[in-house]
Amino acid sequence: MIDIHCHILPGIDDGAKTMEDSLLMAKKAFKEGIHTIIATPHFNSKYDNRKPLILEKVEELNQALRQANIDVTILPGQEPRIYGEILEDYENNIIQTLNGTPYVFIELPSNHVPRYTEQLLFDLQVKGLVPIIVHPERNMELIERPEKLYRLVEKGALTQVTASSLCGYFGKKIKNFSIQLIEANLTHFLASDAHNIVNRTFKMEEALDFIESEFGIDYIYLFQENAEYLIDGKNIIREVPTPIKKKKKFLFF
Ligand code: FE
Repeated sequence: MIDIHCHILPGIDDGAKTMEDSLLMAKKAFKEGIHTIIATPHFNSKYDNRKPLILEKVEELNQALRQANIDVTILPGQEPRIYGEILEDYENNIIQTLNGTPYVFIELPSNHVPRYTEQLLFDLQVKGLVPIIVHPERNMELIERPEKLYRLVEKGALTQVTASSLCGYFGKKIKNFSIQLIEANLTHFLASDAHNIVNRTFKMEEALDFIESEFGIDYIYLFQENAEYLIDGKNIIREVPTPIKKKKKFLFF
């Protein structure tokens, strides 16, 4: 299995603190059946993780994994928080796409969707990049107004749902929205977004079991194949999205 979103690089964000932490995370991942991990450190006002640093850290971690005989491969990626100059920074070698493919992560703020989002995602695509909105299920505005996400996906953006969201570790509302995203073909990837092995761990096995029982085995194949296509820079499978109907909050008798 491939995990495309993980904070496994040591000491550069709020994920693994030390190389020892990174190795423990890799061991845990391996136990869950993960053989390849895209390291996606934060890139935002707090964590200035640029492409050259990420490449260096990925190399270091791969060496340490080989020395420790842990059969997990780390590929370079990044989780940039959305900002206006992201395209310029891509051209300036600051943005690291996922394994150097056209696929690039975009993190929205947790409580809203900036007004310029649609335009920016469009501009990225004009440059040949494919934006993947990470964990849309945890964005408060998208939960309230799922039609916004529908519009972004319709316009070519992809999305990644988080294993632990689907398993209910972020609460019932986020779990339900995650399920709706899958039902509506509004998400294309399942990933861990693991930060450690304590309270933000992988949960990929648990999520895949849940998906299989809730949606059937075809969805497991869909997510796994999409992750494979992604790291190879190939086109992924996109089913036609449908709008999510917002459930009525009150019942009147
Ligand atoms: Fe993340």
